[in-house]
Amino acid sequence: MASLSDQEIEQLAIAAVDARGRAYAPYSHFDVGAAILTNDGQLISGCNVENASFSLAICAERVAASAAVAAGYREWKAVAIASAGGVAPCGACRQFLAEFGLDLAIILVNLNDGSRRVCLLSQLLPDSFGGADLPS
Ligand SMILES: [Zn+2]
Repeated sequence: MASLSDQEIEQLAIAAVDARGRAYAPYSHFDVGAAILTNDGQLISGCNVENASFSLAICAERVAASAAVAAGYREWKAVAIASAGGVAPCGACRQFLAEFGLDLAIILVNLNDGSRRVCLLSQLLPDSFGGADLPS
């Protein structure tokens, strides 16, 4: 795992909590914020965005990841995800994030008790499928 300083973890957690404050979740009422730390020190955040057509909802992690790519950042050190309960990314988000590297540190920020869990994406998505599995 790329080493993360306590300061980076704190900075990411704050950014994820801040992004969570902008979540649009009128249906589930489950607000989630995510913040990505790029390898060159940029912080890019996202929040979940729901829709009356439920299947169009998009998770905070994929919003942040898409924003990072759109801003020109494809190499990431870590992503923090803030929610009540400190839930781990859904399967779709694990796969989406894995496109940009399985060695991504994941920080799960639990707003219920303030705890944080740090792990690697490779731990959350073992035996993953990726571009190398496709014919060249
Ligand atoms: Zn998701």
